[in-house]
Amino acid sequence: MTAAPLKIRLYGDPCLRKKSVPVIYVGPTEQSLLQAMLAAMREHKGVGLAAPQVGVNQQIFIADIGDGPLAFINPRIIKKSGVDVIEEGCLSIPGVTVMVRRPERIVVRYIDENNQPHEKVYDEMMARVIQHEVDHLDGKLIVDYAGIKEKIKLRAQLKELERRQKGIE
Ligand SMILES: [Zn+2]
Repeated sequence: MTAAPLKIRLYGDPCLRKKSVPVIYVGPTEQSLLQAMLAAMREHKGVGLAAPQVGVNQQIFIADIGDGPLAFINPRIIKKSGVDVIEEGCLSIPGVTVMVRRPERIVVRYIDENNQPHEKVYDEMMARVIQHEVDHLDGKLIVDYAGIKEKIKLRAQLKELERRQKGIE
């Protein structure tokens, strides 16, 4: 059985602004959500995808920067160090990039798709992706990092995305 492909929610969808709730237990429903999210992320050639981006406000995201997909459930960033400013994009805000300042090294605590707990150090690209996705679980988006001038420049593009989102609802 193949489920219908998931639609990526675009800027303007209320799901992207809601705080996600923790997952109590990763069961078959969550497993199939993860599979469907992985398919959607690959279809859009993304390196990360959070559940709110497919309309599910649960603390789940996946990431794959080229060395295989990983699932992060109930992630908590417990340590941060360094700082880096890198241009980021987002599958929910296509065509928009923002320079985002973030710690370059993090320690993250999470459970995986088999309910196994982990505590790992990540840096560089993976630390970037994880922090971007954890933001999604808090209802935060890259445009929130834009300066006032940049926000004014982005206004028309964001309005257009909101119109597109309304069109697919
Ligand atoms: Zn994103």
